[in-house]
Amino acid sequence: MIKFKDVSKVFQLKDSQLKAVNDVNLTIDDGDIFGIIGYSGAGKSTLVRMLNGLETPTTGSVEINGHDIAKLHGRELRDQQKQIGMIFQHFNLLWSRSIIDNVMLPLELAHVAKAERVEKAKKLIDLVGLKGRENDYPSELSGGQKQRVGIARALANDPKILISDEATSALDPQTTDEILDLLIKINKELGISIVLITHEMHAIRKVAKHVAVMQDGAVVEEGSVSDIFNHPKQAITKRFVSEDD
Ligand code: ATP
Ligand code: MG
Repeated sequence: MIKFKDVSKVFQLKDSQLKAVNDVNLTIDDGDIFGIIGYSGAGKSTLVRMLNGLETPTTGSVEINGHDIAKLHGRELRDQQKQIGMIFQHFNLLWSRSIIDNVMLPLELAHVAKAERVEKAKKLIDLVGLKGRENDYPSELSGGQKQRVGIARALANDPKILISDEATSALDPQTTDEILDLLIKINKELGISIVLITHEMHAIRKVAKHVAVMQDGAVVEEGSVSDIFNHPKQAITKRFVSEDD
């Protein structure tokens, strides 16, 4: 279970301070697909970066299964980070490496033996629907296929949580749906919790069970997806819901 408790994040700028995350309280249950929606600059990425220790809260705490992430160091922190896979809008693949070498990278970093790395990577490439493309290079793939490689790589260390930060924003609607279907399959078949950051209500409606709406660093509305769609309370939520009509 993920718990954000009274979490704020303040960035020190040259002459001022910026509160990127403002007193957020959220609980995300194991096995959930939890959507976080908000316009650009709302603080979505900053919030989830605190899950794997890429940012630390200025105040408050982020707990995964009772462990305060900011209190973990060295090996403990690295073990925790392995529990979390992440995929991004621009895929963040290494262009000079083949597909299988991209997927094996986290396993190399974890010092997994070669034969095991290859076997694992092949399985994951199969899972994401790219069997036969192992030795191709990212430049030879479509955007949707590149994101499939990103997903396979994110799953390499058997994470319990997959964070998708605008992972479909660069894709056309049909490819977006295919990637969202793959995320649903990963959630169902592997039992991995998914945190889905997006600015598209369509993505939330299609895959998420719960959703939090962020505005100016704060969670302004939260609930089950059906509740939020049927009874949006805040003006910003109504706007997102109407955009999806
Ligand atoms: P987008 O939809 O564009 O990705 P977001 O909701 O993910 O936006 P964040 O990237 O979390 O928003 O940024 C929230 C605010 O914090 C923004 O005003 C941003 O400029 C600021 N910010 C983020 N990271 C830093 C940083 N390292 N230093 C200073 N300010 C930052
Ligand atoms: Mg972002």
